[in-house]
Amino acid sequence: MTAIATVPHTEIERRGLVLILSSPSGAGKTTLTRAIADDGGWGLDLSISVTTRQRRPSEIDGRHYGFISREAFEDLRQRDNLLEWAEVHGNFYGTPRRPVETALARGRDMIFDIDYQGTRQVRERLQDDVVTVFILPPSFSELRHRLERRAEDSPATIEKRLANARNEIQRWVEYDYVIVNDDLDESFRALKSILEAERLKRVRRTGLTGFVDGMLAEPAS
Ligand code: 5GP
Repeated sequence: MTAIATVPHTEIERRGLVLILSSPSGAGKTTLTRAIADDGGWGLDLSISVTTRQRRPSEIDGRHYGFISREAFEDLRQRDNLLEWAEVHGNFYGTPRRPVETALARGRDMIFDIDYQGTRQVRERLQDDVVTVFILPPSFSELRHRLERRAEDSPATIEKRLANARNEIQRWVEYDYVIVNDDLDESFRALKSILEAERLKRVRRTGLTGFVDGMLAEPAS
């Protein structure tokens, strides 16, 4: 932490970054995303997607997703109000564009919980501002156990998600980082390390130019 302590990053102009987490359903990505977003100390704004999927009993409209009709989704898409969108497990999901643009313009970092199709689109649009992390389950059988334990989806939905999981897992090679989510605390620690390192990247720290110039202008003795 010493480099940050010398010049607190909150005082330095830095380009906002977009941290994307992807994984098959049930690998723990949503828990990790929420954990780091809810921990205010990490200064991450969570992107709330819109979806045409049915709300699960534990979900809150506007907090977990904006639950909207297919017509409303189509309307957002046609007006180019979505930064990216995809069809996943037969439902539509998309990231509203405005909150992302506002956050990045203010130098805020955002975290996204989206699939590989959306990740490709965001990377294409935001390029160097994007950091991608793939979360793998410790095994396929553990993935099944987690989906069954969650007990919020019907058996048919669980089977569909497991069938898609094999396809999704193969996309891991497209990501910058990978975490095998065996232990949630350990994965959380790994995620925080990734964020910390990415925030320190020189290319993001153009605001340090004045600081360095000032240092070089100091008399040698
Ligand atoms: P779930 O229905 O379990 O909440 O999410 C299913 C999948 O859709 C997950 O892989 C999740 O990351 C992905 N997803 C959620 N929101 C979005 C989004 O806005 N865009 C894209 N492309 N995928 C999303």
